[in-house]
Amino acid sequence: MNEETDRIKVAVVTGAGRGIGRGIAEALARDGMRVICVSKSEASCGAAAESIRESGGLADALAVDVSSGEQIRQASEKLLEEHGHVEVLVNNAGITRDNLLFRMEEDDWNSVVNTNLSSCFHWIKALGRPMTRKRWGRIVNVASVVGLTGNAGQANYSAAKAGMVGLTKSLAREFAARSVTVNAIAPGFIDTDMTSELDERVKEGALATIPLKRFGKVSDIAEMAAFLCSDKASYITGQVFTVDGGMVM
Ligand code: NAP
Repeated sequence: MNEETDRIKVAVVTGAGRGIGRGIAEALARDGMRVICVSKSEASCGAAAESIRESGGLADALAVDVSSGEQIRQASEKLLEEHGHVEVLVNNAGITRDNLLFRMEEDDWNSVVNTNLSSCFHWIKALGRPMTRKRWGRIVNVASVVGLTGNAGQANYSAAKAGMVGLTKSLAREFAARSVTVNAIAPGFIDTDMTSELDERVKEGALATIPLKRFGKVSDIAEMAAFLCSDKASYITGQVFTVDGGMVM
């Protein structure tokens, strides 16, 4: 490490292999940060990091199963050992396992809660302390509009996303005195692999509820995340920003 590498902010983005996370990783790299692209599969975070490097940005890949607290602890230790500092954390990795409650298996509940919500607890616990010591940090949790409204067939996912909102607001209060901000983004329907799985009837129904009459783009979320991770957002904490084409007003 030297003064130059010390000056460049290190940002950990989970679920950066595809979709929204990849867009956020690219936006933070464009803003001059060294981005650690985390995803479950090595191939996916490896490709994301390589494409950022090819465009002149700074990026590394790290395969971590974020549903495991142990893997997160080990990865965080390795990151801090390697870089000495991490200033930005975007908890974006997420999955759905949709079903009506009476058909939902316990495993569908646990895997969704562990991947979407408990992962945030483990990452923030591991990486929040160096931020508070440095008295500068940005934490952004990617929740969902269904964490605010609920959704039939998504009790596990909605509960996990609503949990992320409570976690965001509590930690914003805990970390504020150290100039570490904690915010959440609640996307509506965004065009990614996650929504491409939905059947056409569901997509049409969703479109009818969006005043702006289109699904969001990855960049719609990435730009909001990049702003929240920047110096410009230093007076914003504990907030949930819906980016949803006007679905939830
Ligand atoms: P996506 O295209 O399905 O990508 C999900 C990413 O998360 C992938 O990179 C995947 O890794 C990673 N991931 C999943 N499980 C993981 C695990 N156990 N450990 C590590 N990484 C894991 O999803 P997306 O649509 O971009 O969604 C990103 C976030 O936005 C999620 O939290 C989602 O709930 C939220 N969101 C999305 C929408 C939407 O309409 N798309 C709306 C509201 C909220 P691999 O690449 O290795 O598979």
